[in-house]
Amino acid sequence: MNSPLLSVEGLSKRFGGLQALSDVTFAVNTGEIVGLIGPNGAGKSTLFSTLVGLHRPSAGKVALNGRDVTGLRPHVIAANGLTKTFQNVSLFAGSSVLENVLIGGLVHSRVASARGFAMDCLERVGISDIAQRSAGSLSFPERARVEVARALCTRPKVLLLDEVMAALNTAEMDEIISLIRDLRKDGLTVVIVEHHMRAIMSVCDRIFVLNFGQLIADGPPAHIARHPEVVKAYLGR
Ligand code: ADP
Ligand code: MG
Repeated sequence: MNSPLLSVEGLSKRFGGLQALSDVTFAVNTGEIVGLIGPNGAGKSTLFSTLVGLHRPSAGKVALNGRDVTGLRPHVIAANGLTKTFQNVSLFAGSSVLENVLIGGLVHSRVASARGFAMDCLERVGISDIAQRSAGSLSFPERARVEVARALCTRPKVLLLDEVMAALNTAEMDEIISLIRDLRKDGLTVVIVEHHMRAIMSVCDRIFVLNFGQLIADGPPAHIARHPEVVKAYLGR
């Protein structure tokens, strides 16, 4: 069998006395949409940050397409095809939508061609018409799309989405879910952190559960919804 697209082995991350990730092992195959759930503080954002090289792991290994990328700088990991959106990091409010998305494209190319590609990314997420709007003036669903476009601009193979649907209502969430499905059709592999269980359950092929930095379950949505440790740790019953 081919090696998985993203392979994580024994990944640990310690912040001083706090063990934020403990021996996390999983693999994601090409074309999968995988959900990552767990209570607040479980380590979901830390896992994403460690995967993309913003944190240096205390132990463990990250491989992309069989290539070891552990400990490489974030722009090198991005150039290898792994990118994440940022939870609670605002866009540059004074800059245009296009300028915000352009930042991602500069990983790969010079400004002139990056501009064209940034427009392509806005087109892909359905908001090329607001390219010149000030990012500070956007609605929540528009902001979510800009975040996805900005990440797409690094030409990822694996896209890590950290709570991009946080402030959205049900109808707006459904639109982002349909966007995620379209991205997968175009060959992208996606890992989603999201609190809205309905959204996660409806779009994911497989779900990982993180609790106190440990992966406690991995399986299809129907299996995860019934998993006793998940019900106890995550649903709080
Ligand atoms: P989640 O995204 O699942 O809510 P986080 O990954 O943000 O959880 O946080 C996991 C734990 O690591 C929390 O206890 C948090 O306070 C801690 N943590 C996260 N980032 C840092 C950091 N840069 N320095 C120290 N502790 C951190
Ligand atoms: Mg988080």
